[in-house]
Amino acid sequence: FSKSIEATKKTRTICTYCGVGCNLNVATKGDQVLSIQAPVDAEVNHAHTCLKGRFAFKFYNHKDRLRTPLIKQPDGQFKEATWQEAYDHIFTNLTRIKANHGGQSVAGISSARCTNEENYLMQKFIRNVMGTNNIDCCARVCHSPTAWGMQKSFGTGAATNSYEDIEHTRCVLVIGANPTEGHPVTGARLKQHIMKGTPLIVIDPRKIELVPYAKHHLQLRPGTNVALLNMFARCILDAGLVKTDFIKKRCENWEEFEAGLRALDLAELEKITGVSIDLVRAAAIEYASAEAAMSFHGLGVTEHQQGAKTVMLISNLAMMTGNIGRPGVGVNPLRGQNNVQGAADMGCQPHQGAGYYEMADPQVQQRYADFYGVPTPTEPGWKIPQMFDAAIEGKLKALWLMGEDVVQTDPDAHHVRHAMESLEFLVVQEIFMTETAKYADVILPASSFLEKSGTFTNAERRVQRVNATVKPLPGTKPDGQILCEVLQRFGVAQPDYTPDGVLAEVAQIVPFFKGITWENLGENGLQWPVKEGGVDTQIMHQEQFTRGKGHFHFFSWKESTELETHRGEFPFILTTGRILEHYNCGTMTRRTGNSEIVGQDFLSLNPADAQRKGIRSGDIVRLFSARGEVELEARVTDEVKPGILYTTFHFPDAMVNNVTGQGCDGDTMCPEYKVVAADVELVRAG
Ligand code: SF4
Repeated sequence: FSKSIEATKKTRTICTYCGVGCNLNVATKGDQVLSIQAPVDAEVNHAHTCLKGRFAFKFYNHKDRLRTPLIKQPDGQFKEATWQEAYDHIFTNLTRIKANHGGQSVAGISSARCTNEENYLMQKFIRNVMGTNNIDCCARVCHSPTAWGMQKSFGTGAATNSYEDIEHTRCVLVIGANPTEGHPVTGARLKQHIMKGTPLIVIDPRKIELVPYAKHHLQLRPGTNVALLNMFARCILDAGLVKTDFIKKRCENWEEFEAGLRALDLAELEKITGVSIDLVRAAAIEYASAEAAMSFHGLGVTEHQQGAKTVMLISNLAMMTGNIGRPGVGVNPLRGQNNVQGAADMGCQPHQGAGYYEMADPQVQQRYADFYGVPTPTEPGWKIPQMFDAAIEGKLKALWLMGEDVVQTDPDAHHVRHAMESLEFLVVQEIFMTETAKYADVILPASSFLEKSGTFTNAERRVQRVNATVKPLPGTKPDGQILCEVLQRFGVAQPDYTPDGVLAEVAQIVPFFKGITWENLGENGLQWPVKEGGVDTQIMHQEQFTRGKGHFHFFSWKESTELETHRGEFPFILTTGRILEHYNCGTMTRRTGNSEIVGQDFLSLNPADAQRKGIRSGDIVRLFSARGEVELEARVTDEVKPGILYTTFHFPDAMVNNVTGQGCDGDTMCPEYKVVAADVELVRAG
């Protein structure tokens, strides 16, 4: 408090960590950030933040920040360079590679940490200058199945409702999400509402923090979401709780879905999931008989081989019970990173350009070509895992990475390292030297969220203004400025970077941004779609779905090929997740006081397994799989069932992704982080 009294300026901006999108008041004096508090009038967070948003900001001027462009020399050492030298080096190499191998030999991976404007510019550079659809972002490894699945069911791959609706719901279903750690402000809001008497259903293999507040906990075996949700839907059908009028008026393909449900072998599904039909029935009746039921899902749904199918089954539940298009209902993905929604909205995915237009459609190609005045690439682009394979096969020669540490965060780290080593030319735009940046040929030092302006879009489709609180650290530049200068270096008539200027361009090409201007976003932002005049949308699909009729899908459960292939040799199922104190690969939170609270990754295992293996809490254990191994500290806990292991992935010392595999969602290639065949053994007593 005393520090904020000394402040000479307060600037309102948006948290850089999770997709809740909390508003922050940042107190500064000169170029020093003194403290962070939360504005009382913030519609998203009402004066509340978690310890990441409020306290984990000291990374911004940490001694490790990159402060000058670096170019790798023939001896493998980095040498400091001027910005002009770095841009020239990039221009020479990318022009040569494109001329020799074609645009398809170049790719870009954009960043959910960056603003909408920066993501828009990144895909503009890759598509319009490099001439390829090889652009992707970290939505690939988290919620790409949500976007895909909800588009198939409803027509729009984004949350149907708003956080505000938590106050209006009469039943909360949390599936494959751990909101109190992953999305703490929403988690707290859910907890407060549940403590007032609203029933909570948790579907999760672990006893997460919300479980003691839950009326129903369906503790399923990892990898069996589809089986469990089919049981859930069948119980609703058998109980006569299907909203037939809603289905007749608003939906299609019910008959196929109903026939699939009626053919299920429930006894078999009980064995598969490890959850009794009685428990599922009680939870399903609770959900279906509530006046308004709202579901929240996270990466425990998406990061599976049937991730997108699971999202469509959650959408089925909402449609069959009429829980769509009104307050307190809907399907609400808890998006992981601060702007992962925005990165996809801006076209940072190979199959859809800015505004979710299908790149394969000739009319779309013509529309973009007319707008930009250059030909639109027509060849299908590669998703991130395909980029890595293409690099190893020698088809991908150059990669541009903006704010992504793929070596630490993507699965099977050996494979990712191999891909990085195979590239002819790698550009990395970063704020710190990461495990990935070590492989770069050119590193461009970027500015952090506290030093730049633009917009982030949170998990409830709310586009909010990010305002620079201090000047960029000397030697660094905001990513938007870097990208505008790169576009200019490649001969594009790109104006110098201004957030309102780029946002105005976005509003011309992205229909659901049509009514957004920098000015009318105001303090609390607007939820897209935003019509002309700034009329925004709190609840989607009110009269009809974006695609017209909501579409029911039926899918049968399939065992993960990871388990089919490796379970005999590696008898445990490992699942991964995050903790409250750290964010993803920890590039930022590890450089704050949060590392004094939790300073390493850990492995949770059940007491029965621990006793059998001679392991106690605090011991160092070896976790290993068909891909590799890591050493971790053991935590013996009944949070996980026997046979299940759980670990976090925040620290490069452990590099948990040495162990994870290359299994992925069949529709989107989102990696299967949640189901890994693994084993564990004692290394030494703690
Ligand atoms: Fe930041 Fe998310 Fe915490 Fe809010 S809940 S302060 S957005 S990390």
